[in-house]
Amino acid sequence: MSIRLVTDYLDASAEKYPEKIAFADENREISFSQVKSEALKIATKLINDSVFKKPVVIYLDKSVEVLVSFMGAAYSGNFYTPIDTGMPSSRIEKIMETLCPAVIITDEAHRNAASEFSGNTPVILYSDIQKLTADEALVEQAKTKILDTDILYVLFTSGSTGTPKGVIISQKACIDYAEWVTKTFDISSSTIFGEQAPFYFDNSILDIYQTLKNGATLYIIPQKFFMLPKQLFEFLAEKKVNTIFWVPSALCIMANLKAVGKFPVPTLKKVLFCGEVMPNKQLNVWRKAFPDCLYANLYGPTEITDVCAYYIVDREFSDDESLPIGFACENTEIIVLNDKNERVQKDEKGELCVRGTCLSYGYYNNPEKTQAAFVQNPLNSKYPEIIYRTGDIVHYNERGELMYDCRKDFQIKHMGHRIELGEIETAVSAVEGVEQNCCLYDTEHSKIVMFFTGSVEAQQIIDSIKNAVPEYMIPNKKIKLDKMPINLNGKIDRVELKKML
Ligand code: AMP
Repeated sequence: MSIRLVTDYLDASAEKYPEKIAFADENREISFSQVKSEALKIATKLINDSVFKKPVVIYLDKSVEVLVSFMGAAYSGNFYTPIDTGMPSSRIEKIMETLCPAVIITDEAHRNAASEFSGNTPVILYSDIQKLTADEALVEQAKTKILDTDILYVLFTSGSTGTPKGVIISQKACIDYAEWVTKTFDISSSTIFGEQAPFYFDNSILDIYQTLKNGATLYIIPQKFFMLPKQLFEFLAEKKVNTIFWVPSALCIMANLKAVGKFPVPTLKKVLFCGEVMPNKQLNVWRKAFPDCLYANLYGPTEITDVCAYYIVDREFSDDESLPIGFACENTEIIVLNDKNERVQKDEKGELCVRGTCLSYGYYNNPEKTQAAFVQNPLNSKYPEIIYRTGDIVHYNERGELMYDCRKDFQIKHMGHRIELGEIETAVSAVEGVEQNCCLYDTEHSKIVMFFTGSVEAQQIIDSIKNAVPEYMIPNKKIKLDKMPINLNGKIDRVELKKML
């Protein structure tokens, strides 16, 4: 069967493995045929409401229903945006302003919260849709109007101006990625994922679409288990998980808690990770405890559909060495450009830029930010060819492998979350009594540090910004100053502040 749209994956798996468990959470296990039939009901509702090529917000706790809703949006030719139910309402409002969704799908428990930010957007309950009858012929007909270049999802990432950016990903970008993952990591119907990533984070794309494509099984790991190692490893063992794709922070927490190797997971075969630097110190703990597993360092931002480079760990590394990010994925070119926009030579450092089907179309409803990051390939003046500038500084090592060095701007990764420090600073500036502020990241201790001046106390600032930024963006350390250090350009002197960390 040729694959044009992601729902073709689900159709094929529902036909081949109708009764097999596709997705499971704490409350429910759902088979491929159930995923399809529930998704078709959502699609029927959207088509009957004349919603086509429009954003559909999914406002539900992390659950199988979120994944079914994604498919419902896809079957109807719409695109989905999951919104974390724990996100502060002011941030959701900014997303809503950018996205202007056609509909919000939620449940009884979140109906009231949804009505606070929905404005004129219709709010529909998942359970109500499930009372309707699916019209498969209608959905089939709608399918003929969907192109593989159409949008599949828009995921929001932190934005330095305080407004999150909605990264647009097409059907074909997701399919291109899914095909590569299956081939490279030998994913099949016997794959069982222990899924960690939140669904609003692009890492989850791997687990979701590999499951749909291959008739695999995805168990959502309850978030609380990442603080309860015994339960976590028992869960993996009980569900016979053989593949995990986690953010390095999650792997590191387990290694630091000395939990890795303490509890057997005999089925575990593949440990993939992506999203931030994976330190070899903690990776070595995993490699020692699970010596027969395949380990792979995947690299990529949301803007290139999760992953554009990868390194399958094939040799020993000492604790203080850096792990390569390796090589470009198939059908993807990585171009490392120096300050002069020329290809770097030998081990010269430069910005990692990407070209290929994997590229996002840009940021939803945000042409300025799109034009700044998605630019004409400076190495090609003959025809339009867009590359994405990641803002990541890298170099090639003596083996020709890509090595990640640092970010070129103020974006950080904190516990796996992508954060623009500017977004926190914008929220802090808005607090009454704050004169100046600057946020830095203390990489060594994994702490967001807020420096501020003004007539206000740290706790007041924290209390106020709780309504503006998610929990993981709240500064861990607060330093009140009488005066901000200023550099020669009249800007806040970050170098001077760094010395105070
Ligand atoms: P996100 O869009 O949340 O996936 O974040 C993308 C950013 O995370 C990249 O631009 C990098 O700065 C960082 N990142 C992702 N994967 C890796 C990796 N394997 N090693 C180092 N940094 C990474």
